[in-house]
Amino acid sequence: MQRRTMQGKARGSLFIVSAPSGAGKTTLCRKLTEVLPGIGYSISHTTRRPRAGEENGRDYIFVDEAEFRRMIGDKEFLEWATVHGNLYGTSQRMLREMQGQGTDVILDIDVQGARQLREASPEGVSIFILPPSLEVLRSRLEKRGSNSAEDMERRMRTAVEEIREYKKYDYVIVNDLFEKALDELRAVVLAERVKTDKIDPEWVKTFGS
Ligand code: 5GP
Repeated sequence: MQRRTMQGKARGSLFIVSAPSGAGKTTLCRKLTEVLPGIGYSISHTTRRPRAGEENGRDYIFVDEAEFRRMIGDKEFLEWATVHGNLYGTSQRMLREMQGQGTDVILDIDVQGARQLREASPEGVSIFILPPSLEVLRSRLEKRGSNSAEDMERRMRTAVEEIREYKKYDYVIVNDLFEKALDELRAVVLAERVKTDKIDPEWVKTFGS
């Protein structure tokens, strides 16, 4: 059925998802790509060291600082930022390839990266994930167990600052019950897919209107 633009395959849309660390954003984003066809996860580059269980190329592309700085110099990033003392960035090439194939892309990025994307282009739907409370956020971070006490305090301080940015996003989802939050995230993506400008006007003309 040719209902989208450009030979039946529109460019994929961008979904920019931010949240304080520990709000459950990564799990939500990953799960969405498993349960909803047509949406992929943008794998960022980072200078952070892998946590236990993380895989290069699946969770992140882990690079050293020299390589990351080279990529900045060669303008390979659509956006990049320093988060909790490490560098994180979104590769332009990977994103454009996915979008070009008509795949929607979900970007799990911090508030600085989201700001850069908003300023660079109005393209993209932005979603902020809130934890139900700061106490829940702290206990989720503690359960993760892989953060040092110093790192924990830094993440909590950053969380308070990041939450101040929520109003700049198109949607806010409170991640209290995981399934409910996932449903809401899926609803945002589905609603975007049926926006009027996603329809191919040439195809609608075949109705004689
Ligand atoms: P973590 O170290 O817990 O995996 O991620 C820390 C923060 O970095 C999270 O808020 C995550 O969304 C953000 N982040 C991950 N990848 C990128 C990226 O490519 N760009 C930006 N700006 N932030 C990112």
